Amino acid sequence: MSTNTPVGTAARPLRIAVVGSGPAGVYAADIVTKSEAVKSGELTVSIDLFDRYPAPYGLIRYGVAPDHPRIKGIVNALHKVLDRGDIRFFGNVDYGTDLSLEDLRTHYDAVIFATGAIKDADLNIPGIELDGSYGGADFVSWYDGHPDVPRDWPLDAKEIAVIGNGNVALDVARMLSKHADDLLVSEIPDNVYRALKDSPVTDVHVYGRRGPAQVKFTPLELRELSHSKDVDIILYAEDFEFDAESDRQIQSNNQTKTMVGTLTNWIAEQPEDLSELRASRRLHLHFLHSPVEIYDNADAPGRVAGIKFERTELDGTGNARGTGEFVDYPVQAAYRAIGYFGSSLPEVEFDHSKGVVPNDGGRVLDASGAPVPGIYATGWIKRGPVGLIGHTKGDALETVTYLLEDRDNLPLAAAPAPETIVELLENRGVQFTSWEGWLALDAHERSLGEKASADAGADGIQRERIKVVPREDMVEISRGGVAAEV
Ligand code: NAP
Repeated sequence: MSTNTPVGTAARPLRIAVVGSGPAGVYAADIVTKSEAVKSGELTVSIDLFDRYPAPYGLIRYGVAPDHPRIKGIVNALHKVLDRGDIRFFGNVDYGTDLSLEDLRTHYDAVIFATGAIKDADLNIPGIELDGSYGGADFVSWYDGHPDVPRDWPLDAKEIAVIGNGNVALDVARMLSKHADDLLVSEIPDNVYRALKDSPVTDVHVYGRRGPAQVKFTPLELRELSHSKDVDIILYAEDFEFDAESDRQIQSNNQTKTMVGTLTNWIAEQPEDLSELRASRRLHLHFLHSPVEIYDNADAPGRVAGIKFERTELDGTGNARGTGEFVDYPVQAAYRAIGYFGSSLPEVEFDHSKGVVPNDGGRVLDASGAPVPGIYATGWIKRGPVGLIGHTKGDALETVTYLLEDRDNLPLAAAPAPETIVELLENRGVQFTSWEGWLALDAHERSLGEKASADAGADGIQRERIKVVPREDMVEISRGGVAAEV
C-alpha cells in the first residue's frame, strides 16, 4: 500500500480501536458503521473492539442482575451488531497491561475509550472498613460471576443494611432477600446459587437519605420488589414526609408520581400490627435516614454489629438536612449502593473528583484542557455513572459525530494493516479471545443450562444458561480448549 493512499478508502480504511465492549463501546462502533459517510461510501472504516474480559457485553453481563432478563435481552441487539462480521472482537486484552496507548496509536487512527465504571463510590463514615461492610458494586460483580472477584461471598448475616435509594440498592436488596430457588431460572452461576441458598437472612433494610419523592430508582424496579415470593415489604409512616417541593416533583414527573403512588398504596395496605405479616423474610424501605457510622462488634471486634443514622428532614429545595436525632439498627452486614465510580486509564488524563476522563462532548482533553488528537470517550467513563443503558446511545452518537468531524486531522497510524495488531498480541503471548470464541463460550454456557434442565426433569427448573466464571476456563473454552465437553 502506498504511503500516499488516502485514508478512509477501501485500500486504507480509517482504523478505529474501541476499548470496552459493553453497550457504550458496541453502540459507538455500530454508529460509526451506520454513519452517513460510511453508508454513502465516502468513508471506509475498520473497527476493532477490545475488552479486558474474555466475553463481550461489559455491564450487561457483569452489572445487570440475573433476574432481569428484559435488560439482559439488550444482549440480543449487541450480538446482532458483532455477529455481522465488520467489527472484530478481541477479548481478554487489558488496556494498560497488554496494550499501551502508544501501541493503539501505532495501529489505529482513532481510539474510543468506553471502559465504563465498575467500582463503588466511597462512603467515608467510621466503620466502613469493618468485616461485613461491602460495596454494592462488588456484590453485583460477585452475583454476576465476574471473573476477577473471589468465588465466595460471606452471606452470614440475618439482618442487613443497604445504603442508597438507586436501582443498584434495589438490585442488591432484592438479590439478598429473594429465595435462591426463585433465581434458578436465571443465568445465576452455581456458586452464587449455593451461597444464596444457605443465607440465613431474615431482614434487609434499605435506607434513603431523602424522602419518598426524591428516590433515584425507577417504577418498574420498585414494583418488582413485591414480586419476590415469601418476602414482605415493610414501610414506616414517619418516613412519609412531603413538602411543597415534593408536591411539585410529584406533579411534574410521572415516574415520581407512579413511585410515590406505589409506596403510599403499599403502606396503606400494610397491617397495623406487623406481626400479622407471614413471610419468612422482610424487606424494609426507610427514608430520611443519613448514614453516620457502622458499629464494631464488642464480642467479635472488627465485625459489623449495627449501623447509626441521623434522621433527616426535607429542606424545601429537594434536599434533606440533619435533624440531630439519631437511630441505631442492629445489622451484621452493611452494603453501600451509593453509586459507581470510574477507574483511571493509564496514560489518559483523569478527573479524580468525578471519576471520568475529562472530555468535551467525547473529545478527550489533556491536563491543560486541550483536546488530545485522535482520543475519544463514551458512556459512563465520559459522563459518569448515571442514566439507563438506552441513554448511552445518544452519548455514543455525540462522540462519533466529533470523531468523524475530526477525521481529516487525525494523527495517522504508522501500522494500520489489520493483521499487525494480531501479530503484536501473538508476539506478546496475549491469550486473546475472538468473536468465534465468544460464540463457542456462549454455546457452552447454554449447553450447561440444557444439561441442568435435563437433570432436573420436565417438571424441574429449566435453565437457559449457566455462566462460566473463572477467567482461565472462559479463555480455554473460547480458544477451543473444552468447548465440546459438557
Ligand atoms: P444512583 O441512581 O445515582 O443512586 C445512588 C443513591 O445513593 C441515591 O439514592 C443517592 O442519594 C444515594 N447516596 C449517594 N451518596 C450517599 C451518601 N453519602 N449517603 C447516603 N446515600 C447516598 O446510582 P446507582 O443506584 O448506582 O445506579 C447507577 C445507574 O444505573 C442509574 O442510572 C440506575 O438507574 C442504573 N441502573 C439501572 C438498573 C435497572 O434495573 N434498570 C439497575 C442498576 C442500575 P441522593 O439521591 O440523595 O444523592
